[in-house]
Amino acid sequence: MKKTKEYGGIDYFRIIAALLIVAIHTSPLASISNIADFILTRVIARVAVPFFFMTSGFFLFSNGSAKEEKIKRFLKKTSVIYLVTIVLYIPINFYAGYFYKKNLLFNIIKDIIFDGTIYHLWYLPAAILGVALVSLLIKYMSLNRAFIISCILYFIGVFGDSYYKIAAKSAVIKDVYKVIFIFSDYTRNGIFFAPIFLLLGSLVSKNINKFKKKEGLLYLYIFVALMMVEALLLRNFNLMRHDSMYFMLIPCMYFLFSLIVSYKVSSRKEFRNISLLIYLIHPMVIIMIRGGAKFLGMKAILVDNSIIHYILVTLCSGIIAVIIAYYMDKKKDSYPKNSKNKNSKKTCRSWIEINMGNLEHNVKELKSVMPKRCKFMAVVKANAYGHGAIEISRHLNRIGVDAFAVATIDEAIELRKNGIQGEILILGYTDVSRANELNHYHLIQTVIDYEYACMLNSQKKSLQVHIKIDTGMHRLGIPVEDIDKISKVFHMDMLKVTGIFTHLCVADQLDEEAEKFTKEQIDKFYGLLNRLELSGITIPKVHIQSSYGLLNYPQLTCDYARIGIALYGCLSTWEDRTRIGLSLRPVLSLKSKIAIIRNVEKGEGVSYGRDIHVTRDSRIAVLPLGYADGLPRNLSDGTGSVLIHGTKVPIVGRICMDQLLIDVTDMPKVKTGDIATLIGIDGKEEILAANLAKKAGTITNELLSRLGGRIERVYLK
Ligand SMILES: *Cc1c(COP(=O)(O)O)cnc(C)c1O
Repeated sequence: MKKTKEYGGIDYFRIIAALLIVAIHTSPLASISNIADFILTRVIARVAVPFFFMTSGFFLFSNGSAKEEKIKRFLKKTSVIYLVTIVLYIPINFYAGYFYKKNLLFNIIKDIIFDGTIYHLWYLPAAILGVALVSLLIKYMSLNRAFIISCILYFIGVFGDSYYKIAAKSAVIKDVYKVIFIFSDYTRNGIFFAPIFLLLGSLVSKNINKFKKKEGLLYLYIFVALMMVEALLLRNFNLMRHDSMYFMLIPCMYFLFSLIVSYKVSSRKEFRNISLLIYLIHPMVIIMIRGGAKFLGMKAILVDNSIIHYILVTLCSGIIAVIIAYYMDKKKDSYPKNSKNKNSKKTCRSWIEINMGNLEHNVKELKSVMPKRCKFMAVVKANAYGHGAIEISRHLNRIGVDAFAVATIDEAIELRKNGIQGEILILGYTDVSRANELNHYHLIQTVIDYEYACMLNSQKKSLQVHIKIDTGMHRLGIPVEDIDKISKVFHMDMLKVTGIFTHLCVADQLDEEAEKFTKEQIDKFYGLLNRLELSGITIPKVHIQSSYGLLNYPQLTCDYARIGIALYGCLSTWEDRTRIGLSLRPVLSLKSKIAIIRNVEKGEGVSYGRDIHVTRDSRIAVLPLGYADGLPRNLSDGTGSVLIHGTKVPIVGRICMDQLLIDVTDMPKVKTGDIATLIGIDGKEEILAANLAKKAGTITNELLSRLGGRIERVYLK
């Protein structure tokens, strides 16, 4: 598999951040200069923990929306790690007399929720609490409000931390903080500290395309310098209670993280576990080194010399972390992966194979005939034409496609919940009462007619829309003649019109009449745009072509092309010729494994109805695939065929709901467990989806989109 080049910078910085955290706990420069140590460990190294929060925010709340699945996984994983580490450190708690303190139960609860049962562990409960809090905020309010609230929380936090002695000048405020400190030793916790950085991570993911490295670096220098000044002043005037929260930390982190993300290097997955392990075990290592040094009588060198001490702690923690990570990785590999196992061809009855390489090839081919400024909008409705919408969209995201179209709001939400980024246009009708979801998930709704626009506007939710214009298909859209109504939509206060489009209905046909009609559709549409522009309306993004529109009318210059069937490497019908011929490669294959083979005597009937009687002694194989899986029933009785060992054999008898029969009499070598190809290549033979569709009296689009959810999909990279 290719390594993703995307956010490798984050992986590298994880190691740097872990080493900075070790520095905070060992004060490497203390034996040289107090002020130098302060600047390193209390100012510079303070970027480490916010960096980890921002990383979580960047992935869990990318583009300002909560990725529910990922969040659940994150909370679960972090809780397990937290629990294991708590248990790991219990002996040290004992040694330190933790269990002999007063109010033990209260302390335990408070430590588990806020402070961590060992001083460095506070990060884990803060991550859990922070992520939970931000998820709730985003769920119930706009991103801006959530941001303001977390800023306020941070503000409260700062005055309980490095600005405490200013706040404590007022007796009332001091009392408020006293109450806070009953529950949490510091304000640097999951409520006052984590949320702002989680959201900052989300903000970076939103703005990363606009980020300019050079300027960013300059700003980073400036804000780091300002943060140093801030910290030194606070220290000089003795205003601090604790030293981990500064105002300048926020802009510093924004620019630092943006730089890290825009640094394009290969990702290093192994660094993720190693950095986490260094973080988790280094306090243990510190204790061991101190004990060991005492025992050896080498305390002066190994502990009191702060630089040597730091290097020793880092080295030992690093080595132990690498070893543990190595064994964790090995163990993972030696187990069959549960979810993957389900998808393995070995255990499936029938499966769909999706070739991602072919998908990438098709995107490249199609893009090569699109004008530069035209964006590829991948149509992934109906489970990406049966290919699996989430996996297909994820892969497209990875290779830079960031505009998608679906038919329904639920398809769109499913994509968002699975972390798909970029624009998602809903092509069809959505009940207007779901406006809040459109807004929440940042979806673009199609205005399907004027009355619909009015109703949508009255929902009082600010919404992004594309206006659909009916230029002759007479399905959805405001009639192209209704220019007054169309301009009114542009002026509706809740609707932000970011696109306008039409759909061609005979672009697949190249006869004279069809071409004339298509040209009329195109002319009417552009005529409308001209008139709108003359009336002072700024024309938003424009799109017209779907697959055939692009392949037959490539000269149109639009802002998007909505590509469905061609993306999957097919044409709708077998005979179709298009004006430009691209070498598209089918992405999907359909395969099934022979369940049993039986001998049927001459004259016996097979399958329901017994209307087919074999005319010779036959070997009949059963494939566990039927019309409930999406294979059309009218391929029964020899209409359809399958490939086996590179040879075509006929389907016999009626196709059933869950299985079908094939005649393998002429192929004595065929045995149970052999693989039959219903769509795809086997040896020199190929069955095209379009071919099968033709035999079933339909088009490729229908055949593929109906391939059911009961069949596993296996993704080949
Ligand atoms: C489905 C759909 C498409 C994609 O069509 P293909 O022919 O599969 O490329 C484009 N635009 C609209 C409006 C659609 O409904």
